[in-house]
Amino acid sequence: MSVLRAGSATDTGRVRSINQDAVLTTPTLFVVADGMGGHAAGEVASSTAIDALRAAAERIGTIEGFTTAVRSANEAIFRASLQDPTLAGMGTTVVAACLLAGPTGDQLVVLNVGDSRAYRFREGAVRQVTDDHSLAAEMVRGGEITLEEAATHPQRHVITRALGIEGEVTPDTFPIAIREGDRVLLCSDGLTNEVDDEEIARVLATVADPQDAADELVSRANAHGGADNISVVVIDVVIADEGVEVEGERTEAHRIVATTTAASERLGPSASNVSRPAPAPAPVPADESWLARRRRLGVRRALTFRVVFFMLLVVGVLVGAWAFLRWYATSSYYVTTQHDAIVIYQGRPGGVLWFQPQLVTVSSTPIDQILPSRRATLKGSVVEPSLDAAKRYVANLAAEYQAVNAPQPSSSTTTSVPLTFSSTTTTITAGAG
Ligand code: MN
Repeated sequence: MSVLRAGSATDTGRVRSINQDAVLTTPTLFVVADGMGGHAAGEVASSTAIDALRAAAERIGTIEGFTTAVRSANEAIFRASLQDPTLAGMGTTVVAACLLAGPTGDQLVVLNVGDSRAYRFREGAVRQVTDDHSLAAEMVRGGEITLEEAATHPQRHVITRALGIEGEVTPDTFPIAIREGDRVLLCSDGLTNEVDDEEIARVLATVADPQDAADELVSRANAHGGADNISVVVIDVVIADEGVEVEGERTEAHRIVATTTAASERLGPSASNVSRPAPAPAPVPADESWLARRRRLGVRRALTFRVVFFMLLVVGVLVGAWAFLRWYATSSYYVTTQHDAIVIYQGRPGGVLWFQPQLVTVSSTPIDQILPSRRATLKGSVVEPSLDAAKRYVANLAAEYQAVNAPQPSSSTTTSVPLTFSSTTTTITAGAG
C-alpha cells in the first residue's frame, strides 16, 4: 500500500484572459491538461479530457487500462469537435500520473500527449520524465538543433501530438518505481516556459507541503511574466510499497491511498486570483482499519519514526535499569557459614530479584577454628565490598582465634640449667695404661 499526497494549482497567468488549462487530482490519478482552440474550445477540450479521466479513474488497474482511458478521452473530444463547428480543431495536451501495481511493488505510471511535462524529483535532483511532443523537441531528439536553440525556436510551441485532433492517439507511458520521499511534478508549458529546471528544483527541494509547492511554482511563473496559463500538480510519495505486500493485496493498493486534493476544477475567467474549492474528504470505507485510516488521512511517516524512537527510548531505559540492577546485585561479597564451612558468596544475601548469589570460595578455616562470637555473627552474613575484603575478613577470623587460643608464653621455658663440670671427673689422664 502506497500513500501519496498531492497539491495542485491552476492559474490564468498575467497575459491571457481565460484559463484553458485544467487539473485533476484523485487519490490515485493526477492530470494536467492544456487546452487549445479558438474561443472557448480549448477550455472544452481540456475539461472534456479531465471529465473523461475522472470518470475512468476508479477502473484503471493496468498501464493498458490507463492508455485506454486516455484514448477514450481523445475520442470524446474528437467527436465533440466534429459535432459542433465552433469546437472544430480543438485539442488538449495531457500529462497524467496513475498509481498502479507493478511487477515489483507500486509504481507511478506517467503518461503524456503533447508538451505538458512530468518531472521526478529525488534526492535533490530533478529529472524530466516525459518527452515533449513538439516540433522543436523532436528536432532536438533528431540532432537537428540543440536544446538551447529549441528554447527560442520559432516553432517551439507547435505540438505534434494532442488529444482531440484525430480519431486515434498514441500516448507515451513511463512507469517509474517510487521511493519514499519522491516527488513528481506534472505541469503545463506555462510553468516550464517561465521557470527553468534549476528554479523548479529549488522550489521542490525547499517547500515541503505539496500544495504550498504547487502555489509557489505558479507564483514564480507569474513573477517571470505569466505569459500563458499555468497548471501544476505536485505528488509526494509519503509511503512507497516497494513490493513486500502479498501478491493478492497488491491489486487493491491503489484503493487505499490518501491525497490532500485541492484544485480539481478549472478556474473560470473571472477567477483571476486563485481560489479553489475546499478539499473533499475521501469516502470512508466502513471496515477501514486503523492503519488504512491513518494512511487515508495522510498521517506522516515522521509520526511512525517518533513511535519507533519512543520505543527505543523505553528499551534503553529497561536495559539501563537491568544493567544497574545486575551491577547492584553482583558488586558485593558476603561471608557466611554453610555446612560447618566458612564460605564467600558473590552477590547480596538472599539475592536481588532473579540475581542469585554465587558461591566463590570455601575457606580452609574450619568453623570451629574461629571464635564462638564470630560463629554467631556468621550465622547471618557479613557483607564486604570486594572479594579481597571478604578474604581478609576470613583470614582475620582465623588469626584472631589463634591469637586467643595459643598457649600462653611462660618464663619456665627459658630455664637455664646450671651446668657444673667437675674438673676431677673430666680429668683426662694422659699416658695411662
Ligand atoms: Mn500552455
